[in-house]
Amino acid sequence: MDQQVVRPVPRPGVLAIDPYVPGKAKATGGHKLHKLSSNETPLGASPKAIEAYRSISNLEFYPDPAATALREAIADVYGLNASRIIAGNGSDEILSLLAYAYLGEGDEAIFTEHGFLVYKIAILAAGATPVVAPEKDRTTDVDAILERVTEKTKMVFLANPNNPTGTYIPFSEVRRLHAGLPKTCVLVLDAAYAEYVRRNDYEAGIELVGSSENVVMTRTFSKVYGLPALRVGWGYAPDHIIDALHRIRGPFNMNAAAIAAGAAAVRDQAFVEAAIDHNEKWLPWVSEELTKLGLEVTPSVGNFILIHFPDVDGKRAADADAYLLERGCVLRQVAGYGFPNALRMSIGTEEANHDVVAALREFLK
Ligand SMILES: *Cc1c(COP(=O)(O)O)cnc(C)c1O
Repeated sequence: MDQQVVRPVPRPGVLAIDPYVPGKAKATGGHKLHKLSSNETPLGASPKAIEAYRSISNLEFYPDPAATALREAIADVYGLNASRIIAGNGSDEILSLLAYAYLGEGDEAIFTEHGFLVYKIAILAAGATPVVAPEKDRTTDVDAILERVTEKTKMVFLANPNNPTGTYIPFSEVRRLHAGLPKTCVLVLDAAYAEYVRRNDYEAGIELVGSSENVVMTRTFSKVYGLPALRVGWGYAPDHIIDALHRIRGPFNMNAAAIAAGAAAVRDQAFVEAAIDHNEKWLPWVSEELTKLGLEVTPSVGNFILIHFPDVDGKRAADADAYLLERGCVLRQVAGYGFPNALRMSIGTEEANHDVVAALREFLK
C-alpha cells in the first residue's frame, strides 16, 4: 500500500525560500544590552510620534483604509503628490506587493550579490526566478545588472545605499541603469537609508519616479524615524503602479497607531536632524577606531558598518560575535549575505560605540 500522505502543497518557489533571519535581540552575558543588530536608531522615536501613538482610542473602529493622515504628512514634508504615495506595513510590504503585482512564473527579477535578502524572498514568493548580479568592491555594478537583463526581466531591485554593505552608487549610475532597462521592467529604488546619506551625487529617486513610467521608490519609518515596532513604510510611484498595488493590498493594511505615529514622526524633522547629526559624528569615529585595530571596514554612508575579520587564530566573525554577545553587544552575522567572515554593526549610543570598540580591542589581543 502506498503510505504517502496526500496533503496541500505550496506553489513552486515557496519552499525554495530560506526564511529571513532577523537580528538577535538578546545578549548572552548579564551585561547591559546594546542592540546593534537591526540598524535601529539609538535615539528612539520622536516624542511627538510617541504621543500620537498613545493618543489612539476607539479600538473598536477600523482604521482609515487610505491612511490619509500619513500620506498627506509625507506629501507635505517631501513635496509630493499624496495620490502617488502608498503606505505599507513596513516597506517590506510594498516590496512584496510590487512582486505580487508584476511577477509570476517564468518571469525574472534581478538584485545584486550582497543585496537586501527580502528581495529574493518576495521574488520566490511570487513564483518568479531570482537573478543575482555580481557587485564590484561590494558595490552595485550597473553593467553587471544590465548584462543580465533578458526579455523575461520584469523587475530590478536596487537598495541604494545597500544593506548590509553601506555602499551606494551615484544617481548618474541609477539613471544609466534606468536608461538601459526595457520600459516594461519595474525599477525599484529602495531608499531605506536615504536620510543618512550626505553626498552631493546621491538622490533617493523622487525625480526619476516623477519623470518615468516604470520607477518606484520605497522608504521606511523603521530606520531614522525610529518606528520599526509599528511597521510603517511607503512607496512613491506613477499612478498606474499605485493603482495596481491598491488593488492587491489588504484594505486596512495600515493600523491606526502606525498611521498616527508615522504622520507625527515625519512632521518632526528636527528630531530626524538630531539622529542624522548623531550618525555623522559616530559613523566616522567607529569606522576609524576599528580600522586602527587592524579590522577592515567597508566605507558606509548609512547608519551601520560592515566589519571584516582576519581569518587567523580563531579571530573569525562568529567568534567575535560570541565574544561581543557575552559583553552585552549584539551585532549581526551576515553569512547569508555572502560575508561569512564579517559582522554588521549599527551605529549606537556613545556608550555602545565605545563598548564595542573596547571589546573588539580585547578580542583581537
Ligand atoms: C531596514 C530596511 C528596509 C525597511 O524595512 P521595513 O519593512 O520598512 O521595516 C528596507 N530595505 C532595506 C534595504 C532595509 O535595510
